[in-house]
Amino acid sequence: MSKYSVTLIPGDGIGPEVTEATRRVLEATGISFDWDYQLAGLIALEEKGDLLPEATLESVRKNKIGLKGPITTPIGTGFRSVNVGLRQELGLYANLRPAKTVKGVQAAFSDIDLVVVRENLEGMYSGVEFDTGTPEAAEVIEKINSLSKKKVDPTAAISIKMITEHNTRNIVKFAFEYARANNRKKVTIVHKANIMKFSEGLFLRIGQEVAAEYPDIESNDRIVDNMCMQLMQKPGEYDVLVMENLFGDVVSDLTAGMIGGLGVAPGGNIGFDGAVFEPIHGSAPSHAGKNEANPTAMILSGALMLRHLGEQEQAIRVEQAVADVIASGERVTYDLRADRDPAKAAGTSGMADAIIESMG
Ligand code: NAD
Repeated sequence: MSKYSVTLIPGDGIGPEVTEATRRVLEATGISFDWDYQLAGLIALEEKGDLLPEATLESVRKNKIGLKGPITTPIGTGFRSVNVGLRQELGLYANLRPAKTVKGVQAAFSDIDLVVVRENLEGMYSGVEFDTGTPEAAEVIEKINSLSKKKVDPTAAISIKMITEHNTRNIVKFAFEYARANNRKKVTIVHKANIMKFSEGLFLRIGQEVAAEYPDIESNDRIVDNMCMQLMQKPGEYDVLVMENLFGDVVSDLTAGMIGGLGVAPGGNIGFDGAVFEPIHGSAPSHAGKNEANPTAMILSGALMLRHLGEQEQAIRVEQAVADVIASGERVTYDLRADRDPAKAAGTSGMADAIIESMG
């Protein structure tokens, strides 16, 4: 009997290739998986008439664990992001995005060990939006202008930034619990409470209340723009960073950049009833179907999944094999080579082969 039933969503673009590489690496640990393949995104729309089919959601609800490749979100076409939809439908409130230096990866910084904890359900990504010139926008603007001293331009498009006490409490608690469980020393609450007095003010106030419940973990707060500058100047002073959705999206790309880019940055979406692990990067359409995309971020997301399942030893084995293959600089994808020469590089599957061999 299989040890773990996992919902596997290959996604689109480079998703299927990096997912297949990851599946092979995870199986090489000796752990047995029962992969429940499910569709999401444009492929799902074509085959099932739904971007995010109920069967996919049901599978994650049943298995309580999923591994997902990236999914394309067409810009400004009225499509809601499947990624955002999946997180919201399944209540995956915490987006965990570690950024740890992988030796051998060319990066502007060395010895980085940061973890971004991003609120996943609300903030600027609440999905409550009104398009410019619509009757709904006009009605909302009229109401706001009757209540607010500061007026909204009648031609404006509107996105609502929603911050609630309960979701803030959950995400900040998650950050402190993560810090405690993973022997991290400090949590920084990142915000913009000086400008957005109510929404970000609430985030900071609740964050500080939660921080007081964890006297064993050091805590402080930083304004998000200043946080970005300080990460460039003295990243060693920071450890776990917790913030609302949009700030977390941006800051985690920044921290991914500090360790050498999206190709090596893993992630996980965690809720009370389940978790879905996925790389930070998108579907990179220009690399799709060419067996040239870097599978590292997806493989490391698989290792994060193993940690979540309590398989620490095997997670370390995978992470070590990835680090060894990258450090050797040979059988790696072109983006990890100093010369970036595709002719000398390994493909996606070839790099996975090297990682599997390195696991012994
Ligand atoms: P992207 O991450 O796909 O690409 C950004 C850059 O990084 C590109 O130059 C790309 O070629 C490169 N890159 C990314 N991953 C790589 C890899 N594994 N190996 C080698 N190079 C890699 O971001 P984008 O171009 O902004 O988005 C493309 C699509 O992906 C969009 O539709 C976007 O909405 C979607 N997206 C999905 C997710 C998700 O599924 N969670 C996340 C981000 C973006």
